[in-house]
Amino acid sequence: MSDEANPFESLQSQIDEAAAYLDIGDDVIERLKHPERVLETNLTIERDDGELERFKAFRSQFNGDRGPYKGGIRYHPGVSRDEVKALSGWMTYKTAIVDIPLGGGKGGIIIDPAEYSESELERLTRAFAKELRPMIGEDRDVPAPDVNTGQREMNWIKDTYETLENTTEPGVITGKALDSGGSEGRVEATGRSTVIAAREAFDYLDKDLEGATVAVQGYGNAGWIAAKLIDEMGATVVAASDSSGGIYNPDGFDPVAVKDHKNETGSVVGYAESDEEITNEDVLTLDVDLLIPAALENAIDADLAEDVKADVISEAANGPLTPAADEVLEDKDVFVIPDILANAGGVTVSYFEWVQNRQRFSWSEERVNEELEGVIVDAFDALVETYEEHDLDNPRTATYVVAIQRVADAFEEAGSWP
Ligand code: GLU
Repeated sequence: MSDEANPFESLQSQIDEAAAYLDIGDDVIERLKHPERVLETNLTIERDDGELERFKAFRSQFNGDRGPYKGGIRYHPGVSRDEVKALSGWMTYKTAIVDIPLGGGKGGIIIDPAEYSESELERLTRAFAKELRPMIGEDRDVPAPDVNTGQREMNWIKDTYETLENTTEPGVITGKALDSGGSEGRVEATGRSTVIAAREAFDYLDKDLEGATVAVQGYGNAGWIAAKLIDEMGATVVAASDSSGGIYNPDGFDPVAVKDHKNETGSVVGYAESDEEITNEDVLTLDVDLLIPAALENAIDADLAEDVKADVISEAANGPLTPAADEVLEDKDVFVIPDILANAGGVTVSYFEWVQNRQRFSWSEERVNEELEGVIVDAFDALVETYEEHDLDNPRTATYVVAIQRVADAFEEAGSWP
């Protein structure tokens, strides 16, 4: 992994790249490159041994022109103010490209959660929820899961918020467990949109997904579901990795069996049907038809991009390519479906969850998946239309052109005040 790119600078350069094709004033573009506000807070909790420990946490509300701020909360040692700002910007353009009435936000705590007990994590999560309380709410800012957080943390945040507010407001947060007001299909949604977008791209490029080879970097929630669904579509998953390393078998393997192995041992490494153990980076440069980076930012830098052999990349992670890598891949004619579209299934089903919470009504899994399919196909069509209209070489630029225009329209329609 490379540290060469600051994610916030990456976001800003992606916006600049697209702005060249937009008839929007520099003053408005300037607004769209910065968060509206960022909370930086210090959370002090008691460890199980009675000692106190302080953690730094952030919440960035990037843009609310199209609706309440929306985006996850991550627990990771690599969290920083700039990373959270970038991720909140990506959320803004993600909700815009899939055209759901939400803005963009993101939060994070600098922590390696594996080093802490469940009760310590609960205290920390509730402490963060207490800090967030004045700025969140179903019409203000709606957090969700991200790296190393899931239903458990969302249920705690919901409970803390509702207790302090003396109300029931499940739509204050999404990604909850079903019994706490979660939605069918939410856990699978990120991986699902990654493969729907890949399927659309293969179709657009006249390539056959049936029998196509696939490498998946990262075998968490997004990566493993993408592997499972792409296998069900007839493609062959030949490689997978996680932070401990990778596995490779040119004949392919069963993604579900790999996941079972990871559940048992903590890693995909050592899976019996792997032909070869390879590194996490090797997975990114294999000669495959489709590459799915599903780990963290900056997984592929310019040097590594030179060695990428995939024809299509569907970004399940947020920000897996540095801008320099993106340029190299553009020159190599690799079709990259950008994160803000490829992984937008997560926030789209979060939106469905929020709608269901407000309706006090639950949709079937079938309905959720059907609606998600329509949203991602429409977003991909909008990408293609703009890609062709401007004769662009990079699908990411096309996606940003559409998304920035939508946010700018909402801002200009509202007018600036005061
Ligand atoms: N953390 C996810 C993302 O990056 C989901 C956000 C949400 O559901 O609000 O898109």
